[in-house]
Amino acid sequence: MAAPALVRVAIPVPLAQTFDYIWPGPDARPGAGCRVSVPFGRGHRVGVVIEHPRTPAIEAHRLKAVTEALDDTPLIDSHLLALLSWASDYYRHPLGEVIAAALPKGLRVGKPAAAQPPAYWQLTAAGSARDRSTLAKKAPRQALALEHLAARIEPTPEAELRGLGIGTATLRRLFALGWIVTVEPPPTASRPPQGSSPELTQAQARALATLSAATDFNVAMLFGVTGSGKTEVYLRLIEQRLDADLQTLMLVPEISLTPQMVARLTDRFGGQLAVMHSGLADGERLAAWRRARDGTARVIVGTRSAVFTSFKRLGLIIIDEEHDSAYKQQDGFRYSARDVAVMRARMLDIPVVLGSATPSLESLANVQRERYRLVELTERIGSAGEPALRLIDLNHHSAGNGLSQPLLAAIEKHLAAGNQTMLFLNRRGFAPALFCPTCAAAAQCPRCDANLTLHAAIGRLRCHHCGNDRPADPSCPTCGTERVAVGEGTQRIEENLTAYFPNATIARLDRDATHRKGELAAILKSVNSGSVDILVGTQMLTKGHDFPNVTLVGVLNADQGLFGTDFRAPERLAQTIVQVAGRAGRGSLPGEVLIQTYFPHHPLLQCLLERGYAAFAAMALAERHAAGWPPFGRLVLLRADSHRKQDSENFLVAAARSARRHADTSQVTVLGPAPAVMERRAGRFRHQLILLAAQRAPLDALFGKWLAELKSIPEVNRVRYSLDVDPVEL
Ligand code: ADP
Ligand code: ZN
Repeated sequence: MAAPALVRVAIPVPLAQTFDYIWPGPDARPGAGCRVSVPFGRGHRVGVVIEHPRTPAIEAHRLKAVTEALDDTPLIDSHLLALLSWASDYYRHPLGEVIAAALPKGLRVGKPAAAQPPAYWQLTAAGSARDRSTLAKKAPRQALALEHLAARIEPTPEAELRGLGIGTATLRRLFALGWIVTVEPPPTASRPPQGSSPELTQAQARALATLSAATDFNVAMLFGVTGSGKTEVYLRLIEQRLDADLQTLMLVPEISLTPQMVARLTDRFGGQLAVMHSGLADGERLAAWRRARDGTARVIVGTRSAVFTSFKRLGLIIIDEEHDSAYKQQDGFRYSARDVAVMRARMLDIPVVLGSATPSLESLANVQRERYRLVELTERIGSAGEPALRLIDLNHHSAGNGLSQPLLAAIEKHLAAGNQTMLFLNRRGFAPALFCPTCAAAAQCPRCDANLTLHAAIGRLRCHHCGNDRPADPSCPTCGTERVAVGEGTQRIEENLTAYFPNATIARLDRDATHRKGELAAILKSVNSGSVDILVGTQMLTKGHDFPNVTLVGVLNADQGLFGTDFRAPERLAQTIVQVAGRAGRGSLPGEVLIQTYFPHHPLLQCLLERGYAAFAAMALAERHAAGWPPFGRLVLLRADSHRKQDSENFLVAAARSARRHADTSQVTVLGPAPAVMERRAGRFRHQLILLAAQRAPLDALFGKWLAELKSIPEVNRVRYSLDVDPVEL
């Protein structure tokens, strides 16, 4: 008997293996990249064919047969499949789950890959000849349909006929009689582009010329201060690709926060644009995916997961704000969309442009090693120039309510000039602690090693780590003493500002103020229209907004980032300061930036303020180099958590021992295990183990045996564990 035809299928399950099935024939086997429905466990799953193996990975008698092939042509082309396999290997994540992450939900559950075109109907010659008044007596609906189609000379969408009460049965009958036929839908009138492009400045023209010089694989780091016209350069690059009939993928960290970016792209590219992000409804996402794949969308702007979109002819990838940690997925399949994008470009032999006003140290190290080309835009567009940055020493100017006297005076001055102020504080809520003076203790989350945050307006205490939520009793539950709110969150700052500036309009931009649909857009709109005088907000403020009338930016507390435990804390702080400062003085009005700190002599702040981000980055890179940390070393983090503290501890102690046994310890350093920064979170104890190596190869050599051995550690069933390759947070 001939050996059965086999297909190897990746199925989205948390198992690091693929599954072989018999293809029952007689048709040809579905090719690699086609979806199939296969029996799995007690039910069925949708998987993707990876290859046609000659011999099965399991005994032949245990093989089951494919139930149904879902695609005639591959949904995932060979290039994308190669990229996904690479990502699965690199991040040590099951291929089936990696592929699932690349597909919109509709396709994961087996919906057709091609959109079903809407039906259009038209009269035939026989249909036009039919006498409608006699027909109307015995079949009024048929007559109505013919009447309507006769009046409407163009092909008529079926939905329009249904609107008249004409159902499928009637249409079928008319079709059977040969009176009507379906026709191809008329070409959709695509929305024409509206905007015209401004003439480039000399600096932009130079940058564009350098960036467009090569069309094969190369990575360019476009390092341009905020407002230097990077986006305009992206738009020109995209236009060049359109002229060559090629698609562009543009990744952005966040879409909802930057409606201006999408508006600009829509203006310029009209109906050729598709937007992809997690806020879309399943159907919309699927529609955008299909348009990218069939090539009707030629500019695709999207967040992280858009890096896995299927394209017809991709010619360029742009990664805006490449330093943003939102590009790293922090759970499940923990990939970096930036790094995957660079790999994708390499495989396709097309260029990548990374853009930022505050490039990541990783990318700057690649510039130093001459792997990436540096292209700079050093001047802002317009007459405003760079904002002036100044420190306010809180040791000399008390800020008991979060706002020091020099800052209040500056706000006063900018208000009087009719301009807007933006205040940044990375802490939402009213106060970060509700404190009992008698017990000398703050209200704690029962499930986390963290204080509860007071949300005074709604009278509740909330944990910002696990979501625990309870009424805020003003008196201490232990001793009855009246408790006091200590410290400031954005809500309290908003309240304090109202007291100082009763005539000013104050708005707040943070997660609490924007969780209902439409709230975010409304706040951004009122800031843009100038009706808001002072805007207080969290990290959300740093994200690329272009508010032309903001002339003063205040950073209320820079110190949180100065002494962080994460080796990336200084880099993050510098990026935040520069990004938030970049919101000041974007139009023709010069900007001023004031930073409150208790550590005005800290070398990081000094370097950043006196010599700028590039100098800061050089200093920080030298420190990383000395310590062997990324980008000069490769990191892998093994995290584990459990209900009982000793389970994850013991698990990681055993994991560390195993790593030391299998690794070439001259090349791999095993650090820990150690408790996570917040050891207990949502009732679980969290620990982590770090592997550090100068190169990736010795880590790769270790993974196979080590990861297999983790499964036999006695505590394995009592812990949740995950591997994070190139972690961005420790
Ligand atoms: P970035 O992306 O670097 O922050 P943008 O491209 O958004 O900079 O440009 C900043 C502002 O300057 C925007 O309002 C933009 O419309 C405007 N702008 C950019 N390039 C030009 C130009 N060549 N001529 C006139 N205005 C420009
Ligand atoms: Zn909690």
